[in-house]
Amino acid sequence: GAKTEGKNTWQRYQDEMHEAMLRRLEMRSALNEAVAGGQMRLRFQPIIDLPTGDVAGLEALVRWQHPVRGLLGPNEFIELSEENGSVVAIGGWVLREALTTFAHWRTTEAGRPMRYVSVNVSARQFRTPGFVDEVREVLSETGADPRWLLLEVTESLVLHDADQVWADLRELRAMGVRIAIDDFGTGYSSLSYLSNMPVDVLKIDKSFIDDILHNPQQMALVETIVSLARTLELAVVAEGIELDGHRTALAEMGCSYGQGYLFSKPVTSDEFLEYLRTQSSAVSPH
Ligand code: C2E
Ligand code: MG
Ligand code: MG
Ligand code: MG
Repeated sequence: GAKTEGKNTWQRYQDEMHEAMLRRLEMRSALNEAVAGGQMRLRFQPIIDLPTGDVAGLEALVRWQHPVRGLLGPNEFIELSEENGSVVAIGGWVLREALTTFAHWRTTEAGRPMRYVSVNVSARQFRTPGFVDEVREVLSETGADPRWLLLEVTESLVLHDADQVWADLRELRAMGVRIAIDDFGTGYSSLSYLSNMPVDVLKIDKSFIDDILHNPQQMALVETIVSLARTLELAVVAEGIELDGHRTALAEMGCSYGQGYLFSKPVTSDEFLEYLRTQSSAVSPH
């Protein structure tokens, strides 16, 4: 009857909760071993100079080759790694690996025109004392020019105006490292904050781009962000460009850079190098 059915549903719910909890516990402890165990991987996604179509740079995106669950995307483990602190080791690994790879590519014919590599930094990682020194060390160890490095931080990190955060951002910029606000527009930046922020680049979140061709209001909103960036003398990168119509509309409104599946998904280092070769040999349509 209804009563036993209700009980079964409740039981199933409890089993699922239990399983989810075990899964999180298992993931948490496995995450602590992941960097030392050599389980982290990088994927690379090109960032395109929209007016010329050239590859301006790339973003390094982390993956976890979990011994049992296979290749996991950051949405499946970054939040957990923030909670248990393993994001500090993961982020350090990403920074070193990304700069080593980029410095290597810059010595190749196809890679030489690229200007920068973008690396995501979590709030917890950024706030860990010694972060700026670590960046300085990795730059000198890899022989990378600080101007090759763009650090992507979250809007909320910059918004908090913890004196230490702004001081660290200024110190990084004084070294020549540039700072981007990732997923711009999803937080609550106020105009007064924006004009003072020690940053160089705004990355417009994919959620703003998705609908621009069918939603004039959305299009106008993105245009507003692009012109705001111009007023503040910040470069602007549009994320999640999937359609040629996105690319054309964004280029027309003066958005300098774009990133998205239209150009390439995030790929392995071999695939990225191959992509660069095909790009540099392609006859430019311009
Ligand atoms: P993000 O920094 O905003 O990176 C862009 C995400 O959008 C990437 O997902 C990328 O694969 C995806 N993307 C790019 N273009 C398109 C497109 O045209 N269509 C669609 N559907 N998606 C597109 P991914 O690699 O899964 O990364 C998700 C988020 O995880 C990143 O968002 C970033 O916030 C975080 N993340 C990635 N790598 C790291 C890292 O090394 N450290 C930290 N702390 N966070 C990272
Ligand atoms: Mg990013
Ligand atoms: Mg982003
Ligand atoms: Mg995003």
